[in-house]
Amino acid sequence: LKDQLAANRDQPAVTRDGTELKLLANINNAKDVESAVAMGAQGVGLYRTEYLYLTHENVPDENEQFAVYREILQKSPRHYVTIRTLDIGGDKTVAYLGHNHNEANPFMGWRSIRLSFEHPEFFMSQIRAIMRCAAELKSGEPGEVNMLFPMITNVEEMRKARHLVRKAEKSLDERGIPRGEVKVGMMLEVPAAAVAIHHLLELVDFVSIGSNDLVQYLTAADRDNPKVSGLCQPLSPAVVITLKHVIEACNQANIPVTLCGEMAGQPRAFLLLLGMGLRSFSMSPAFIPTIKELANQATVEHAERVVEKVMEMKTTNQVKRYLRMELEAIS
Ligand code: PEP
Ligand code: MG
Repeated sequence: LKDQLAANRDQPAVTRDGTELKLLANINNAKDVESAVAMGAQGVGLYRTEYLYLTHENVPDENEQFAVYREILQKSPRHYVTIRTLDIGGDKTVAYLGHNHNEANPFMGWRSIRLSFEHPEFFMSQIRAIMRCAAELKSGEPGEVNMLFPMITNVEEMRKARHLVRKAEKSLDERGIPRGEVKVGMMLEVPAAAVAIHHLLELVDFVSIGSNDLVQYLTAADRDNPKVSGLCQPLSPAVVITLKHVIEACNQANIPVTLCGEMAGQPRAFLLLLGMGLRSFSMSPAFIPTIKELANQATVEHAERVVEKVMEMKTTNQVKRYLRMELEAIS
């Protein structure tokens, strides 16, 4: 198994008809980078920073944040890392930022960037720490630091986030603290942002689709509530239509798009996403070898035909059955 893994790790992530794909890793801490490397990830596509805060009694200061981000950058394959700013709330809370469990609708409530905006001191320290981490990139060597804002709902929020980025740049420059170039992007996980994606694309350098939240918000069904989770289906026609709309909009505007929800690592969704034009997938490291093998067997031409067929289907079961059949045909 070890030999097999090693062979797969060195294999390029390319389709049978020669389209190159990016297979990235989702990580929650510095330790996870080891599995990203072992599984052959081409970089870290999603670092969920909330885990750094969940394990602390109080907000870690800027230097401590910087040290952790730097360690992750240094260990990451090709020094490629996408750092997502705090995404607390919903099911995760940190009391020291004033968050509690008293909301009637936590997932629709005060979570994620909505909470960060109300803690500008903390939020600025995180943004600065990410920019300082980017200064560690060596010129002439491969590497990229991306800053990802979660739960963006509308243009105003993205403008506000951009404004904070400029402010952080200024404050570091004034103090003579080195900073590096950082690409600024948004998580696409709120249906409102998916519908109006073309407006948001003017404000971002990249997009990362959070299918876990997008699916649960689109279907208005909590994925962790067994009474309704049956409605929360990533392969439902409404989700398929939405994903196609977003991926095509990004590709048309030449804005790089990744999908970093669970779907990215699900074999059954692979042909569908490939056929929609997705070329970058970020997933738990353990899924990378399987998706890479699938990629090696797939062709874009076939995947595009699959999407055409799926777009005509009216039920989730139909989509699921059909995708399973097409998957078996190539594997
Ligand atoms: C998502 O919503 O798909 C996502 C990747 O973010 P998280 O699972 O951390 O909410
Ligand atoms: Mg999410």
